Amino acid sequence: MPYTYDDQNIFAKILRGEIPNATVLETEHSLAFRDIQPQAPVHVLVIPKGPYVCYDHFASEASDAEIVDFNRTISEVVKSEGLQEGGYRIISNAGEAGVQEVPHLHIHVLGGRVLGRMLQRAG
Ligand code: 5GP
Repeated sequence: MPYTYDDQNIFAKILRGEIPNATVLETEHSLAFRDIQPQAPVHVLVIPKGPYVCYDHFASEASDAEIVDFNRTISEVVKSEGLQEGGYRIISNAGEAGVQEVPHLHIHVLGGRVLGRMLQRAG
């Protein structure tokens, strides 16, 4: 399925500097910043700077340099937030079934407490 990127989404506005953010780390191709409504003591969002809607869009169309940079940024956030020892969870929601709120790829990096089971069975 071809994805259409909406450049009016909130993370596009953050990348253009139109909306402030609490930056954790910025690299050539990626930005990591704190979630505005944290669900855990550590809740950082990592996004690519390029116009990718969701994970498979990015993984299929981004350059090797963007993909390496993005993954290394996630790793750096895990380390700099002190999550290696206690553990963490990374989540990326996509589309309707994934209940994706912002249509710009983002990885949630969560930690700082025991997070509970991944999903609740809903029937
Ligand atoms: P999704 O449901 O799309 O996976 O998650 C979107 C996330 O973006 C949510 O956790 C929400 O709290 C966060 N978010 C929404 N708007 C803003 C914003 O303006 N700034 C920041 N830092 N986070 C936001």
